[in-house]
Amino acid sequence: MQEKGEDKKAVLEALKRALEEDQCYDEGKIFCSMCTSPDSLAKKANQMFLNSNLGDSGLFRGSARLEKEAVNMLSELLNGAGTAGFLVSGGTEANLLAMLAARNTARVESPEVVLPESAHFSFEKICGLLGLKPVHAKLDSNYKVDCKEVEQCINRNTVAIVGTAGTSELGVVDSIGKLSKIAKKYGVWLHVDAAFGGLVLPFLNQPTMEFDFRLDGVQSITVDPHKMGLAPVPAGGILFRNTNALEHIKTHTPYLTNGQQYTFVGTRSGASAAATWAVFKRLGREGFKETVADCMHTTSFLRKGIEALGFKLVIEPTLNILAFRAVNTKFLAEKLQARGWFVSYVPRLDCIRIVVMPHVKKRHAAEFLKALSELA
Ligand SMILES: *Cc1c(COP(=O)(O)O)cnc(C)c1O
Repeated sequence: MQEKGEDKKAVLEALKRALEEDQCYDEGKIFCSMCTSPDSLAKKANQMFLNSNLGDSGLFRGSARLEKEAVNMLSELLNGAGTAGFLVSGGTEANLLAMLAARNTARVESPEVVLPESAHFSFEKICGLLGLKPVHAKLDSNYKVDCKEVEQCINRNTVAIVGTAGTSELGVVDSIGKLSKIAKKYGVWLHVDAAFGGLVLPFLNQPTMEFDFRLDGVQSITVDPHKMGLAPVPAGGILFRNTNALEHIKTHTPYLTNGQQYTFVGTRSGASAAATWAVFKRLGREGFKETVADCMHTTSFLRKGIEALGFKLVIEPTLNILAFRAVNTKFLAEKLQARGWFVSYVPRLDCIRIVVMPHVKKRHAAEFLKALSELA
């Protein structure tokens, strides 16, 4: 830090230059992100509540109310009216809190958690932090976790099993109904990671398999407003079926206005809660259905174009996520990236992955297909 402060204009200019180095969602070239440009009212709410700290919620009662109401809206959406939860920093923290609650509820000496091979990498961090031994269950030919494998992985040290409703790589939804039965049979916690899918699946036109609190083995669900919820970063969500679970993740905060905290992050953004609340209120189920329908429409447009060019899809898409292979997939991904198309290359599956977020419009998809045809 320099001794003397700089002129406001100079600082702003420098900020603008930095912003220009960033990629911008609205240019429609980011095909690899699960986040998007937030809803305009969410941006406004975010600014209005910039001072708010939910880590000291007694000072920010209005913000705390908005968090509670936003959590209630998420609970209702996932058919768990009355469940408890929080808006947190993201899917990673949400998954962490779920695993913490499961571990502390079970109280076994050498806790283990059964994870699908396709589980999000956040569980690797979490297992390290919480001293949980990860036990990986294989996938079936549809890239869903093999439920027989899950059952075989369970032993008396198992504190939780995890299913994903919308894997980050392929958008696959595990058979949560079957996992729920297994969880009940063995009396273990079932956590559903619906960080991405939780705000897509309820809004799809055709009914999909159940993945939420309607299944009585499901104890907790991760669902992130900062992905398909169109809220600004950071906004994750964690929901617990039983309020009792909160006792297992509680920390006393002797000198703050609230007396206790349940989230991992201490000082945390009330602006995120206000923004999430605003976008839920503004769009309603109807607005989200439209957004999801648009994304699914663009997904099927892209899919047809990709297949017409002779590429093979890894799997029939369930959500607005596409994955395909070429003769030399990695090389193709590099060439696309060199041309400014931001796609992901997934080494484990040797595929190119595209997330069709709301900022990817049909015209961008058409331009992408043109670029792809020139490289094919
Ligand atoms: C994005 C994602 C996460 C992690 O969320 P962050 O907000 O990046 O912490 C966890 N699980 C799944 C399935 C995800 O898609």
